[in-house]
Amino acid sequence: MSARLQPHPNYEVVIGLEVHVHLRTDSKLFSPAPVRYGDLPNHDTHPIDLGLPGVLPVLNRRVVELGVRAALATHCNVQPCSIFARKNYFYPDLPKGYQISQYEDPLATGGWLEIDLSGYDAPVRVGLTRIHIEEDAGKSIHDAAIAGDAGSHVDLNRAGVPLLEIVSEPDLRSPEEAAAYLRKLRELLRWADVSDADMEKGQFRCDANLSLRPHGDAELGTRTELKNLNSFRFVEDALYAEIARQAALLDGGGRVVQATMHYEPARRTTRVMRLKENADDYRYFPDPDLLPLRIAEADIDAVRRVMPELPDDRRARFERDDALSEYDARLLTESRALADFYEAAAKASGAPKLVANWMLRDVLAQLRERDCEIGATQLAPDALAKLIALVEAGRVTAASARPLVAVLIESGGDPETLVRERGLEAVSDTGALESAAAAAIAAHPDVVAQIRGGDAKGLNFLMGQVMKRTQGKANPKAVREILASKLGA
Ligand code: ADP
Ligand code: MG
Repeated sequence: MSARLQPHPNYEVVIGLEVHVHLRTDSKLFSPAPVRYGDLPNHDTHPIDLGLPGVLPVLNRRVVELGVRAALATHCNVQPCSIFARKNYFYPDLPKGYQISQYEDPLATGGWLEIDLSGYDAPVRVGLTRIHIEEDAGKSIHDAAIAGDAGSHVDLNRAGVPLLEIVSEPDLRSPEEAAAYLRKLRELLRWADVSDADMEKGQFRCDANLSLRPHGDAELGTRTELKNLNSFRFVEDALYAEIARQAALLDGGGRVVQATMHYEPARRTTRVMRLKENADDYRYFPDPDLLPLRIAEADIDAVRRVMPELPDDRRARFERDDALSEYDARLLTESRALADFYEAAAKASGAPKLVANWMLRDVLAQLRERDCEIGATQLAPDALAKLIALVEAGRVTAASARPLVAVLIESGGDPETLVRERGLEAVSDTGALESAAAAAIAAHPDVVAQIRGGDAKGLNFLMGQVMKRTQGKANPKAVREILASKLGA
């Protein structure tokens, strides 16, 4: 077992996470209302989401498909039969008076994912207890700046938006592991096209449960729950604040009371929001308007067949087959689109290692500079492969070719044509190179003496001089040979 982080000297930290994630669907879970972000309040609604009398919910088939994808991406077992239940409570942003969720019989159970932290000598496997489908509630707006006056307002655009709730086992042992878990889960959900999982849009929200126990104890301590942590930074900060609060209590001989906590980022402290003794009784019961959700093995297989290779498998394959370092493989699998691009370019080129180098050095830098995704550029995998082939054939120098990556990203095109149109063909014409080399040698007698004295570093300097005299277009191999023969080096 690898040495895992231990945030506290006296107590072992135990964390379990509940994540709510919006699904990538066009319409809501039980109604045809659109799922959009940034629309005017109450424009994306339907009588079903408004809880008007006489309407019946109709399950969105796409949600089930995406739920199964999420389950397969996290090694969960999809249950042959799951049940929609009503979770009853009153809130102004919940017009029906209940939220449709799954309770005793969720969509999927018993999965895992692996997290890897720097300094760990092996990945840590974190269990997933369950994944269930539920609808989101609307939004209450109390902020006078938005509401326009002192009153509270309700926006029901979010009411009925499909969610998955993904619950982990209490397997995490530090805030850093919790953050790594969330990053991994988000990566998997995006990779499998389940969700955009944009935290800023509220598409990926986290509740964190935390308890402490003396090192070596088998029994779990009493937990508290931190609600609605909406950035990775907040998750870590809030958990550290709560560790400090619980540890101080226990150190003083007190005990932790089960409660829902609120994190105050400004003061970096947590405070009790409500005690679990007044735990809400949601009076769950099966929704009589919805049939049990039956998923046949054949349906699961159909999804399995179209599932993309998962990121860890892909990284392992790149490391093994293309001899990439773990670090490089990780960068090239930042998104599925990027990994697909790399793979297509590597295939077209036949030289994966070279393609990886060009992508890591030039393509990724350009993407970062423009803050855009590979799919939003004009660069085609074939074009990158062709550009690299031109360099390898000595038709264009790497120095002249590199700026063309930006051109291809911006406006696409054929590398060979670009090289010709821009007059970037490498100079291999021996006459021209000979005279450039002779001029460089004549201009730097001191460097020549240095090389003749056995210091090879000067050779690179002279090569640079020849490059300058040929506007970077000299074929480096030819230059090196000419210089070497002239200097007898
Ligand atoms: P609830 O729905 O009341 O929040 P759950 O049984 O769904 O209860 O558990 C929620 C989360 O709390 C799970 O992620 C679980 O791993 C975590 N959890 C349960 N017990 C503990 C504990 N003692 N310490 C830390 N986390 C815990
Ligand atoms: Mg909970």
